[in-house]
Amino acid sequence: MSNKRQPLRPKPGESVRLADYDPGYTGDYRAKKDALEDLERNRAKLGELQEVLYAGHKHALLIILQALDAGGKDGTIRHVMHGINPQGVQVTSFKVPTAEELAHDFLWRVHQRTPPLGMIGIFNRSHYEDVLVVRVEELVPPAVWEARYDHINAFEHLLTDSGVTLVKFFLHISKAEQKERFEERLTKPSKHWKFSRDDLKMRNKWDRYMAAYEDALNLCNTPWAPWHIVPADKKWYRNLVISQVLVETLEKLDLRYPEPEPGLETIVIPD
Ligand code: AMP
Ligand code: MG
Repeated sequence: MSNKRQPLRPKPGESVRLADYDPGYTGDYRAKKDALEDLERNRAKLGELQEVLYAGHKHALLIILQALDAGGKDGTIRHVMHGINPQGVQVTSFKVPTAEELAHDFLWRVHQRTPPLGMIGIFNRSHYEDVLVVRVEELVPPAVWEARYDHINAFEHLLTDSGVTLVKFFLHISKAEQKERFEERLTKPSKHWKFSRDDLKMRNKWDRYMAAYEDALNLCNTPWAPWHIVPADKKWYRNLVISQVLVETLEKLDLRYPEPEPGLETIVIPD
């Protein structure tokens, strides 16, 4: 399968089978060193575009990162976003819901963290957990999670109608790559904290998680909030692809600095 062309962004309505997507795909790139220059250029552009987004205050960008454990969500945030002014970004990592969160509808906690105009919001996990882990671990009855795909699509539509551009990334790793990353978490002291025994329970349900992801990718791949399936076994390729999509997304927004107040040229700053 390696290096056969594969779509990054399946068309809305097209049926996605994850088995058709190679997590080790690297497009035209052979090795990390070939991609570094492009990644660096994208990071610099992202920094520039973000500044105009922030100053213009007309649009917001919401980046949704979903993946299985060790899929690379944290690494993506660290590597792709490091040229960005922290003042313009809000990162939210969604954990097991609190009692207060569970007493509300599933979108309540998420809606509070959507980015205001001018900002980039990054979701490390998201409302999709409510049709993924919640479904596979049977935390609610099927009728409850089944209704959520429509709720999600409507919610995401509301956001786009309100000036928020959504980009959703599924970081697609292979089972073999997850094994290697878990092993590293067990052997490297600086990574011990990332390991949780529960991660192994989820790994044992790999196929069920893949099926749940496929449904989320198929049922919530809307024209207003498209999914990207990112080949993520190679971290450098994952970073490159995501940085590229973000640059293209922001460039399409035709961002501008706000119009200056009239008469600025006549103002003299007193000594
Ligand atoms: P981590 O991202 O590794 O810090 O782990 C966060 C954990 O919270 C993961 O095991 C997620 O599956 C879990 N989680 C996030 N959102 C939900 C949710 N809505 N319901 C249940 N578990 C969740
Ligand atoms: Mg974890």
